[in-house]
Amino acid sequence: MCLLHLELKTPYISAMKDQIYIDYNASAPLRKEARVLMIEIMDMPHNASSVHSFGRKGRAYIEKAREQVANLVGAPSAQVIFNSGATEANNTVLHHFTGATILVSATEHLSVLESQNDLIKIPVDNNGLIDLSVFEALLTKEKPALVSIMLANNETGVIQPIVELSALAHKHGALFHCDAVQAVGRMPVNISELGVDFMTISSHKIGGPQGVGAIILGLCGITPTLLYGGGQEKKARAGTENVAGIAGFGAAAELAKQELKQFQHLEELRDNFEKNLKDISPEIIIHGKNAPRTANTSLFSLPGAHTETMMIAFDLEGIAISNGSACSSGTVRASYVLEAMGYKKDITSSALRISIGWDTKQSDLERFLDVWSDIYNRIQNKMSAHA
Ligand code: PMP
Repeated sequence: MCLLHLELKTPYISAMKDQIYIDYNASAPLRKEARVLMIEIMDMPHNASSVHSFGRKGRAYIEKAREQVANLVGAPSAQVIFNSGATEANNTVLHHFTGATILVSATEHLSVLESQNDLIKIPVDNNGLIDLSVFEALLTKEKPALVSIMLANNETGVIQPIVELSALAHKHGALFHCDAVQAVGRMPVNISELGVDFMTISSHKIGGPQGVGAIILGLCGITPTLLYGGGQEKKARAGTENVAGIAGFGAAAELAKQELKQFQHLEELRDNFEKNLKDISPEIIIHGKNAPRTANTSLFSLPGAHTETMMIAFDLEGIAISNGSACSSGTVRASYVLEAMGYKKDITSSALRISIGWDTKQSDLERFLDVWSDIYNRIQNKMSAHA
């Protein structure tokens, strides 16, 4: 039975028969509802800026999706600006503040960390959390115009105390950007309760298509803009809208919102899974275990082992997992998130991430544990042979 009790099957299941996909934080499988709608839309030339009936239909799809996405994050739909994904959204917000002082957490996604030079990093503790007093001291010293801190980390699932962090930033006169890509659909997210001025979200992490995302504006009155040359998205993001993609994003957002209650039940499953993992391999370190975490993510290290070797072994068994972040080059490298949490190479280079979602089954996790038991024993034998 599917963890989220969904009966609909998607083509990827038959394409990946006998394979197990537990790498949702990299990209979630496309939901059937999104796919069906997108295929229907792609059959028509819907330029949403055209005044003819095709264009008006395209516009209607976009505006429906805007409401669905706004509803997922508790915002009025007028505050949603669609774009090509979270990388664009993060770059757009940070570029608006070029030349100003910007504080970012040391564990942000690279689309924040590499979007500007001279970003000032906010340290995290061993659980991946920002200490409020350290943060306030930095605000006092640096007087930033913008602070950018993610809600849930893509590698660890650790949830930052955004309500407190954004209140402190505002107290010190800074605006607040929050990358909520890995939080939406995995926990309740409400932009006004969080008190953020700009929020980033992405479609493909919740079962929508890739290449679509949004900036959600808070109430500060600023609209960061990166692309000019057209009136689309109320002049906030020029370029013909990806009508099918946006509609698929909307459909996924609606389902993700409906599933939130069930998603919280995953916490129990995750805890049980981690207990079994520890029983098999007592020396593993489960990262962020003492911090609030999203229920779908487990990142652990087996000290001294090699991430790449373990990932290949899982891949040979038809199990798709990750080391934490899907690197654009397809190579595996040590986790900078774990480095920022104070770990050395034996831990940063031996991490594996399991991230589950709307179509994960209990049996997927059981199979993972079976294979892990085997891989772990092989690693132990090898290590003791070299000792
Ligand atoms: N931020 C976070 C936290 C992410 O996990 C990702 C995707 N790995 C991104 C931003 C970039 O998202 P996109 O693929 O939509 O550009």
